[in-house]
Amino acid sequence: MFEPAQQNGSPRIGFYVCHCGHNIAGKVDVTAVAQAVARFPGVVLSRDYKYMCSDPGQQMIMDDIREQKLDRVVVASCSPLLHEHTFRTAVARGGLNAFHFQMVNIRENVSWVHDDPADATEKAVDLARAAVRRVRLHRALEQKKVPITPAVLIVGGGIAGIHAALTLASAGKKVYLVEKEPTIGGHMAKFDKTFPTLDCAACILTPKMSAVRSHPNITLWTYSEVTKVEGFVGRYRVTVKRKPRYVIEELCVGCLECIEACVFKEGKFYDEFNQGLGKRKPVYIPFPQATPQLVLIDPEQCIEFKSGKCKKTCAEKCDRDAIDFKQTERIEQIEVGAVIVATGFQTVPSEKVPFYGYGRMPNVFTALEVERLVNASGPTGGQVVTREGKAPKAVGIIHCVGSRDEKTNRWCSRVCCMYSLKLAHLIKEHTGAEVFNFYTDMRTAGKGYEEFFYKVMDDGVHFIRGRVAEVSDWAFTPDEEGKLVIRVEDTLIGRVRRVPVDMVVLATGLEPGPDSQQIRRLFNMSCSSEGFFLERHPKLAPVDTFTDGVYIAGACQSPKDIPDTVAQAGAAAAQVLALIDAGSKELEPNTAYIVEEECSGCKSCIALCPYTAISFDAARKKALLNEALCKGCGTCVASCPSGSIRQNLFQDDEIFSEIEGLLTPVT
Ligand SMILES: Cc1cc2nc3c(=O)[nH]c(=O)nc-3n(C[C@H](O)[C@H](O)[C@H](O)COP(=O)(O)OP(=O)(O)OC[C@H]3O[C@@H](n4cnc5c(N)ncnc54)[C@H](O)[C@@H]3O)c2cc1C
Repeated sequence: MFEPAQQNGSPRIGFYVCHCGHNIAGKVDVTAVAQAVARFPGVVLSRDYKYMCSDPGQQMIMDDIREQKLDRVVVASCSPLLHEHTFRTAVARGGLNAFHFQMVNIRENVSWVHDDPADATEKAVDLARAAVRRVRLHRALEQKKVPITPAVLIVGGGIAGIHAALTLASAGKKVYLVEKEPTIGGHMAKFDKTFPTLDCAACILTPKMSAVRSHPNITLWTYSEVTKVEGFVGRYRVTVKRKPRYVIEELCVGCLECIEACVFKEGKFYDEFNQGLGKRKPVYIPFPQATPQLVLIDPEQCIEFKSGKCKKTCAEKCDRDAIDFKQTERIEQIEVGAVIVATGFQTVPSEKVPFYGYGRMPNVFTALEVERLVNASGPTGGQVVTREGKAPKAVGIIHCVGSRDEKTNRWCSRVCCMYSLKLAHLIKEHTGAEVFNFYTDMRTAGKGYEEFFYKVMDDGVHFIRGRVAEVSDWAFTPDEEGKLVIRVEDTLIGRVRRVPVDMVVLATGLEPGPDSQQIRRLFNMSCSSEGFFLERHPKLAPVDTFTDGVYIAGACQSPKDIPDTVAQAGAAAAQVLALIDAGSKELEPNTAYIVEEECSGCKSCIALCPYTAISFDAARKKALLNEALCKGCGTCVASCPSGSIRQNLFQDDEIFSEIEGLLTPVT
């Protein structure tokens, strides 16, 4: 410790520089920094320590505050994102106001980005000087608390939303589960088997789906969408639009007699659940285990809606009078304390990869279509057949379609290698066909995944390493006649190969859902560059978002398999439980505030606020700021023409003092 000569009067600043093991001390001369800072005005104590964030490190701060009568603390260590909260808490436990503290990032901003130790040390001293200057002016701030409504909204009823809903409901919390499709289940409901254990997807999923339906704490609204979100953590007011099914939910028992009775004797329309491989009637249920077990009518296809001239046999047949052609959209309004967004993903649209011939050559299928073909309750009753109804003798599965590719998506979709192996196994089992997997790299990281890969190799599935250039139907040799030809450079043998097959399966990658931008805006979330919802911190807050009280789970955050999705949904539910059970949440006080006498009522701040935290008080002609919504981004502060908006912890004198500290030459 370096103890400078005792100075008269306040402030009494304690300075601590962290080694962070070798992370900082490997580049920055921490002893020299501590020595230099000990000479700055106001600094009464300057120490370096191996790990400031450790218990002894924090204890040292607390003891010094009491014994040395410190009234300000500066810690030079890592990113405030990581440990600002840790040190503020230590400062508060030592008896000071938590905001009489300033943190300097000399790891990400110094030791990790500089090569020369002398330069790094000099910069660390400069940054410390700026912080010491600034902290003298820090005001004591008070953290306000908001109460938490003990109810949760979950958006998306795939396996993530279902798991989170059941976890929260069984812990006694009120859950509203909103799903935009007529049934919950998401993608998993379409699968026959799941890798790597090949257990039956329906056997795992359908009990959970019916548990959601029957749970007294869960209100399930399918065929519904969130249209408006107002409020803040603890008190979100949410508007949900419930689309008309033209069937009265309370009366329908899912007997399906109306479907039987429909004037369309056969299915005629695109069957969404079966990826269009089957046809359905205008009155339908998505699939036998759909939850809720309720039919719906598609007004675009129903004769009664189009011409008003239908015999309405469906309504006649329904002895419970559940069909209601006049049903209209309903609006529900709820108040919840927290939200979990679990809106999943979409597979890469095949139009993005035209060279594989999807839509042009009938026997090019997507993996999701094949998931339906192998499924016993699918459109072919589990028979894997070409579009002409023939069993294929050879099938090619192309990996990385729309993934790991500069032209489409650069990221690895994580599940395609594994689901391709699963489909290879199932196709072989169902048809006895020769199956060829065309892969770029085999990615089978996960419990039991590599073992599954070996099992599929033992099944006799062929593996060809190389990115497929093209699928065509041009025959060069007699054995290619009537076949689809996959052209690929086999990078293991260094030769271009042409592999004739009867069926091609595109292992399309995962990308953000079609309405992800709309959802992002509704809940004020951020997205990563790929468009998936962004977590607050990849390691320390992987299910939190930058909006307090809004959490994410499942494949809407990044491509992931079912085990990881379920784990993340459990984590999001745990976060919500912690929030609700705490009963209240402390708000960050580094918000903006309006000095009312100086506000000219020009309203320019209102439109600029990205968090809709500012409104206008028409009676008093003044802007009003809701501190619970403000995230302290500073946009309004910088743009206010009258300078009447200020920001806690970013007051002009604090900022100017910090700049002066940086610019003061080294003495
Ligand atoms: C072909 C294929 C095969 C796969 N096979 C396996 C496998 O065998 N094993 C495995 O572990 N993983 C497998 N996966 C991965 C698996 O599908 C995902 O891990 C899982 O579906 C992720 O669940 P989720 O709930 O996050 O998303 P989803 O399953 O996509 O569910 C999201 C739900 O949110 C709803 N939703 C979307 N937007 C809104 C909105 N605005 N409002 C309300 N609701 C909305 C959707 O309708 C959907 O019901 C496979 C993936 C593919 C593409």
